[in-house]
Amino acid sequence: MPGPTSYFDPTSLDTLDQRTAELVSRRTAALGPAYRLFYRNPVEFVRGERAHLFDRDGNDYLDTYNNVPSVGHAHPRVVAAIAEQAARLNTHTRYLDEATIAYAEDLLSTFADAVAATLGNLMFTCTGSEANDLALRIVKSATGRQGVIVSWNAYHGVTTEVAAISPSLGGMDSLAPWTRAVRAPGTDVDFAEAVEATIAELDAFGIPVAALIVDTIFASDGVRPDVPGLARAVSAVRKAGGLFIADEVQPGFGRLGDGMWGFARHGLVPDLVTLGKPMGNGHPVAAVVGRPDLIAQFAAHGRYFNTYGGNPVSIAAAQATLDVLRDEGLVENSRVVGARLLERVETLARQDARIGGVRGAGLFLGVDLVDAEGAPDESLALDIVNRLRDRRVLIAASGPANHTLKIRPPLVFDDADADRLLTELAAALADA
Ligand code: PMP
Repeated sequence: MPGPTSYFDPTSLDTLDQRTAELVSRRTAALGPAYRLFYRNPVEFVRGERAHLFDRDGNDYLDTYNNVPSVGHAHPRVVAAIAEQAARLNTHTRYLDEATIAYAEDLLSTFADAVAATLGNLMFTCTGSEANDLALRIVKSATGRQGVIVSWNAYHGVTTEVAAISPSLGGMDSLAPWTRAVRAPGTDVDFAEAVEATIAELDAFGIPVAALIVDTIFASDGVRPDVPGLARAVSAVRKAGGLFIADEVQPGFGRLGDGMWGFARHGLVPDLVTLGKPMGNGHPVAAVVGRPDLIAQFAAHGRYFNTYGGNPVSIAAAQATLDVLRDEGLVENSRVVGARLLERVETLARQDARIGGVRGAGLFLGVDLVDAEGAPDESLALDIVNRLRDRRVLIAASGPANHTLKIRPPLVFDDADADRLLTELAAALADA
């Protein structure tokens, strides 16, 4: 999540054109002050296609930010599937519906054979936050424990339960008494050692560890594709009687280019996996995938129903998205275009000392901007974000110091899109 300063400053209303200023005023009056708008100069989009968004004047913006419309903005097959189902029937998961069962079977089959035996059940929610909330309830009911370990700048969503394990949202003070955030990745602290020390600390407080939950690309920790020690940390948690939840809301559905799921690149098999964002290409559908024995223990304590979770229209969107992902070879596209993009940003970094580090997997890149001393340069990052917006390229800054440019486009991003990003990034850096 970008920090406060990459957003529009409401006191600078008078710098905007008349239509934009009027919309901003009406929006604030109606929605109140908790919402934020991207950019010094907020932008109004009216249409999207592939990795491009179009503003009210028809200008074409390159989208390197939005991971949700993963098979491309307004993909015709997803649109048609939603429209057809909505025109015919929409109910919920309390009636038999073959398409829902078939989608669950199809999605479970993407967890490779060995894993599928372990990750054998799927439960639908509407958002990633709800998926993480449900995963925590399953973990707590199965283990009878409370303790939750997260990464230092983790973000897992917005429900009360999940906000209480999301330090990037409200800082350390907003965490529940049973939550502990561990240093690393991105520091020289070993992740496994940090988790082991935290397990002991939780024990000392009489709150034994129930779960370690991580986003397997560590997006809000600055995009960390490789975290030495993660597999050892998971072993330590299991040895102590806890479980491992892989939050695949960001890395899942092929984003990292080397397969469908981010946990695989760490050589891990999670106890529970949470899915969301790209699952319905923008339609709100999300899920928990997990060990049948854990879900049986949860079910023994009560039933599960989520009014909109897994409704037939959402399932139609999710099935069409999965079909397009496969039919258009988008995981492979993520790997190939992402690798070329990473190489070219690395070349740019060798020519410009303000790029202090570049990391990536598939079409998920983190680019650190630093000052002359090599320290994180948040103000440069935010200046570049705004300059790129003016050059019609959408990007955001994130990470604990908010100095990491996050490149995370729809997976249909092609080489021409990558060329345009590189040209505009180099120009923005030259002007900054
Ligand atoms: N987990 C991660 C890693 C996320 O990035 C997000 C959303 N940014 C969520 C969970 C929450 O998903 P949602 O906004 O759909 O509730």
